[in-house]
Amino acid sequence: MAQMLNCEALTAARADAAVSADACGVCGACLRIARGVHVDVIVIEPGETGAIRVDMVRAVVGQAAFRPFEGRRRVVIFDDADRLVPAAQNALLKTLEEPPSASVFLLVTSRPHLLLPTVRSRCPELRFGGLRPEEIADILVARHQFNATTALAAAASADGSVARALETGSDDHLQARQSAAALLRSLAAAPNPKRRLETGKDLAGARRGSRASAAAARETLIGRLRALATLLRDLQLLSAQADRAWLANADLEAELIELGQFYDTDRAGRGFASVQRAVDALTRNASPKVVVDWLALQI
Ligand SMILES: [Zn+2]
Repeated sequence: MAQMLNCEALTAARADAAVSADACGVCGACLRIARGVHVDVIVIEPGETGAIRVDMVRAVVGQAAFRPFEGRRRVVIFDDADRLVPAAQNALLKTLEEPPSASVFLLVTSRPHLLLPTVRSRCPELRFGGLRPEEIADILVARHQFNATTALAAAASADGSVARALETGSDDHLQARQSAAALLRSLAAAPNPKRRLETGKDLAGARRGSRASAAAARETLIGRLRALATLLRDLQLLSAQADRAWLANADLEAELIELGQFYDTDRAGRGFASVQRAVDALTRNASPKVVVDWLALQI
């Protein structure tokens, strides 16, 4: 998008109309933006503390008040905008309401519900499509020292996101997967509704002793559901006799084969669709309890 706003091959009028206009990708501006060295495209990322601090926001808001140096538009990209601390979000409010005419602010996040409502209400939402697994695998190999096989496996379970692919293999992900596998085992023999709801509770339950905030508990649950989706997808692949190289959880193959006796193509497919709906509902702020109760009756 920063390239589209500054591409030298697009006239300002066409770029602003954004009618099937895309950046050329090869002009000087496009190349400098891709290399991260264009003076008018500023990327703000979390610092060492994992947060975007208020002083980082103040500095860039000050800068954005001036005309761009060489481009048509100054583009300020907050990558992982959900890491903006509340004070930093508040410092942005006035600018988001009346942005300087030559500046565009992009708040990029896969977790918009973690932003303050006052920030969200000032931002039109643009949805970016996910990357295809092959595209993610290429990025993992080129920039993150993955070998081709691991890259494909990580990409297969990443739901279109490079960041999510990088999380695969982290402790959080492995724990999420354990919880998800436990749910599938408990529900395998299609128990009665009461037992199902209890199983759902196990999935939603925060770890004992943790004083996680509601937002963190929601994140944990979403992580578990994403892991659950990859298991159900693998079950579909197994029952379709697909190439094992595409299993996202190849290390759990033995357990998946066992579960496959209970989850045929249909059941795994319906389960997968239900999990996607559940994740969607959670990212739109639905009640975790309601979502989990519903889901436990669907799988
Ligand atoms: Zn260009």
